[in-house]
Amino acid sequence: MSPIPPGSTVGVLGSGQLGRMLAIEARRMGYRVHTLSPDRDSPTGQIADREVVADYEDLDAVREFASRVDVVTFEFENVSSAAADAAEVFAPVRPSGAVLHTTQNRLREKRFLERGGFPCARFREVGSPEELEVAARAVGFPAVLKTAGFGYDGKGQRVVRSSQDLPEAWRELGGTVAILEEFVEFEREVSVVAAQGLDGSFAHFGPVGNTHRNHILDVTVAPAPLPEALAAEAVDLARGILEALQVVGVLCVEMFLAPGGRLLVNELAPRPHNSGHYTIDACATSQFEQQLRAVCGLPLGSPIQLCPAAMANLLGDIWREGEPNWEAALRFDRVKLHLYGKATPRPGRKMGHLTALAETAEAAEARVRAAREALTAQP
Ligand code: AMP
Repeated sequence: MSPIPPGSTVGVLGSGQLGRMLAIEARRMGYRVHTLSPDRDSPTGQIADREVVADYEDLDAVREFASRVDVVTFEFENVSSAAADAAEVFAPVRPSGAVLHTTQNRLREKRFLERGGFPCARFREVGSPEELEVAARAVGFPAVLKTAGFGYDGKGQRVVRSSQDLPEAWRELGGTVAILEEFVEFEREVSVVAAQGLDGSFAHFGPVGNTHRNHILDVTVAPAPLPEALAAEAVDLARGILEALQVVGVLCVEMFLAPGGRLLVNELAPRPHNSGHYTIDACATSQFEQQLRAVCGLPLGSPIQLCPAAMANLLGDIWREGEPNWEAALRFDRVKLHLYGKATPRPGRKMGHLTALAETAEAAEARVRAAREALTAQP
């Protein structure tokens, strides 16, 4: 299949910050960008040549959108298989609808991991309160109940500590198909963002170390403080997963480092990931350029990290006392500000991020945390 060269048009389903950062890279490399989502003046739409406002399930709109681009990719993975199939008639969809289908549902994703022999936390499928009780006996306490579909950033999940918690947890998650999963007392969370090209070539960033706050990624440190053998194992896991899923594009593998030095796969995201944002400022090729190269059938770029780095998310919460003090953060040496063009800051909403570069990953982490604190410090 011939590559889709610069000057062509890339179609992005979804219009958030991931699409925005992809669009910025695509524009830099001479591509045109179209985006489709239900939102107007979106983070991606502000950068794109064309912003189509339509529901993902409006298949006529998806077809019209796909007929005007050379390749379709996405930044929002809860696009239905029907929409991916509708687009596929007009332009290649990368990664494929099959990859979306597997990764947008926790149960299918876990089954895929299990079949492939990839290590993950013990789990059971549950479809009724009775099954939940049976599952709890198999999994033990504490455990995490997670809805099978449409979950992200800790939405649709709840920790259960004893059998008394089960009925309420079941009601709270809406009584839909779910999985009950062993609670992992992890030592740290790590992720690997990796890419596979149309020709099967592979390149990876990471592993990086992640800390979460309220189930939302808070800080990423790159590289992760991991012994070399574990870092290599994390990369091998990612490579195996991208191969088994036949991904064309970028995929992030989130993992727990469990006691005893065991890596367990937690979640897959078939697109660039928040934990890879540091690559824009710290790597020879960013995760977004890599996505563009992969989906356009171009050679993958070198993922080499030029300098230790850390990334801190900026959530809507920091607007609580008014506009953050941007100057204070920008006074820091080697700190870069990224804002996503979202008009309304809401608590928990990802509005932007800071990246800091330094001589060591620890120094970068200290710097990015200090810069973020300076945003809201009282004078
Ligand atoms: P997820 O939506 O599955 O990515 O979960 C979001 C966050 O919740 C993870 O990054 C963990 O910090 C926490 N979490 C999810 N599943 C588990 C688990 N089985 N054990 C412990 N913590 C978990």
